[in-house]
Amino acid sequence: MFDSLSERLNSVFKKLKGHGRLDEQNIQAGMREVRLALLEADVNYKVVKDFTQRVKERALGQEVLKSLTPGQQVVKIVKEELEELLGGEQQGLDLKAKPPVVIMMVGLQGSGKTTSAGKLALHLKGLKYSPYLVPADVYRPAAIDQLHKLAGDLNMPAYPSTSSDNPVDICMRALEEARQKAYTAVIFDTAGRLHIDETLMQELVSIKEKCSPHEILFVADAMTGQDAVTVAQRFNDLLDITGVVLTKMEGDARGGAALSIKSITNKPIKFVGTGEKLTDLEVFHPDRVASRILGMGDVLTLIEKAQEDMDQDEARAMQEKFQKSKFDLDDFRKQMGRLKKMGSIEGLLKMIPGMGKMRDKLKNVQMPEKEMGKMDAMINSMTRQERSNPKIFNASRKQRVARGSGTTVQDVNQLLTNFDQMQKMMKKMVGKDGQPQLDMNSQ
Ligand code: GDP
Repeated sequence: MFDSLSERLNSVFKKLKGHGRLDEQNIQAGMREVRLALLEADVNYKVVKDFTQRVKERALGQEVLKSLTPGQQVVKIVKEELEELLGGEQQGLDLKAKPPVVIMMVGLQGSGKTTSAGKLALHLKGLKYSPYLVPADVYRPAAIDQLHKLAGDLNMPAYPSTSSDNPVDICMRALEEARQKAYTAVIFDTAGRLHIDETLMQELVSIKEKCSPHEILFVADAMTGQDAVTVAQRFNDLLDITGVVLTKMEGDARGGAALSIKSITNKPIKFVGTGEKLTDLEVFHPDRVASRILGMGDVLTLIEKAQEDMDQDEARAMQEKFQKSKFDLDDFRKQMGRLKKMGSIEGLLKMIPGMGKMRDKLKNVQMPEKEMGKMDAMINSMTRQERSNPKIFNASRKQRVARGSGTTVQDVNQLLTNFDQMQKMMKKMVGKDGQPQLDMNSQ
């Protein structure tokens, strides 16, 4: 996600930070490079023009020229403006209405609509809703089966549409049924075409008129870049969409669609899809994404991911431990187990401040079963005191643990080093107020 843009911007900032003081000339030169970086990221040219203009005006203002750390100030301005570009304040689903909340998914074929409908159902279930999935794409033969299969995987009900039904009738009847059965969320998976066509659009307009959905989410494939933006604009003109789901973000190194869609349609990105699995959906937080683009990491999303399968009390206790640096080897073992479940280490590193650059070295590294087993055995062989205060480890303690766990002193040393690094990182990641530190790269 945003890899190339991130690299380009960071090299511009490195140059800017290299100057003791900034003058108009080096700010102008820096902005030219920012402009090129955004254009290369396939951001809409008009959006780029406005963006660089705004950043330039602010950067040439007194706050930067007078500052003792002018490079840092420019980075701060770019971060704030990037946040704006990505949508400003985070905007979630509109869930204020009396249930059932009605969500209509629209978009072109292959954009990831059906998959996103399933992901969203799972997300809503996590928010204690009981979702009803409604297949309303009667044209693509496999679409109804696909949604029924997803519903089966999720153990959720789906409306029994058939390909001979009329899509508008399907939605109306399904909504009626949802009310009767007290489902609290209804998700319409509507038909997509390869291109926008009038009949399809009219059908969507009729569903909107008859069912008054609270959310109309336009689903777009991020990899299609500016095409996604143009299509979003057409759907928005006709349907007045309420938000966007950008899919396949994990494969989009450039990020042009994400960076243009809000400015062009004035509608927020609410979610991003980051893989084919039903759990691969992230709530879109413009501030956190801006942070990730600038290589500052996204600690909050990381912590949230790690907490997904903890209960509330456990999550709170872990957060407190992070903050008070009371993180011990038992916690370390728990976290490593979770990281392993969360998938590739590469993806996780992107979220940790300053770790983006280590990524290439660790590409596709998975936590091997064998290593996890060894770690378990070593921690099991430690005394309670050793686990909570590994500083007391001397040579004889290490030998005892190695013997007890069938490993070597080298293995024990490696575990203690890894633990030490993670502990340091935790301290750095979470500031005193529990908020992530801003510019870790500059330290
Ligand atoms: P629809 O025609 O719009 O309903 O699209 P589908 O939901 O059938 O998705 C088309 C393809 O994109 C399927 O192979 C999905 O698994 C895949 N897909 C959907 N969302 C994502 C995503 O976020 N990341 C990746 N890598 N693939 C996705």
